Amino acid sequence: MKLNNGTSIPQLGFGVWQVSDDGAHDAVAEALRVGYRSVDTAKVYENEAGTGRAIAESGLAREEVFLTTKLWNSDQGFDETLRAFDGSLERLGTDYVDLYLIHWPVPEYDRYVATFKAFQQIRDSGRAKAIGVSNFTVENLRRLIDETGETPAVNQIELHPGLPQDELRAFHAEHGIATEAWSPLGQGESLTDAAVVEVAAAHGVTPAQAILRWHLQLGNVVIPKSVTPARIAENFDVFVFALTDDEVARISAIEGKRIGPDPVTFNLR
Ligand code: NAD
Repeated sequence: MKLNNGTSIPQLGFGVWQVSDDGAHDAVAEALRVGYRSVDTAKVYENEAGTGRAIAESGLAREEVFLTTKLWNSDQGFDETLRAFDGSLERLGTDYVDLYLIHWPVPEYDRYVATFKAFQQIRDSGRAKAIGVSNFTVENLRRLIDETGETPAVNQIELHPGLPQDELRAFHAEHGIATEAWSPLGQGESLTDAAVVEVAAAHGVTPAQAILRWHLQLGNVVIPKSVTPARIAENFDVFVFALTDDEVARISAIEGKRIGPDPVTFNLR
């Protein structure tokens, strides 16, 4: 998918939250072998080193892999961000990332505008090809755009059948921000929903594949996580069938709830 700065992101990528450094190395190596070309890590996951090692050892040219990492909350602020970014690059063992994200807005800390100004400097230096945010609300996005004059390329948000995020997706569409879905499978919870199971059966695919297809057809970037080789492959095999509009609507209508923290009240740092 094209981003608003002219670069592109693979619509289907691979996430490594809650995986050890060695585990991330092995999972990313397997994902790259299967065909994924986008990997999502973060400083706070403590697996940037393993992720970077897997990319370096893959035999792929660095430019063939889209690499995302995120700035942790306690590193927000202009100077702090510049320092934290250097640390991420060092652990990743690369001289640039494809996408750098502010992990959470942290409203009480109130530093995300200064943080994004440091992101602009990093991007202008060529060490991040694109810059964006994660877990930003419409209000956070409006303020960021007003005060920096720049629209982030991506907002990575909790988004799964139980939390389709219609309001944010509409705002993103209006402003040219790519919607990236975290916990796209609802951390596994969405897989047993009756509508998902029925839609999957109608296509002879698995519930995970039906949900990932739902995301792709809504235009979301998705980054499912698994450390199991068979599931890593299964989650990548979603380009040989398509859901009908009615099936997409059925999955969108699933009742559910937020699994992760609410960005409005999440102030951990
Ligand atoms: P997910 O929705 O991708 O679910 C992952 C879990 O679903 C796995 O642990 C496994 O139990 C199960 N699963 C995966 N594939 C399966 C399959 N084919 N069949 C059956 N079960 C399967 O959850 P996630 O890891 O929370 O989210 C994905 C990625 O999003 C993370 O790894 C991370 O990169 C990113 N993320 C970002 C934030 C943020 O604040 N920006 C927060 C959470 C996650």
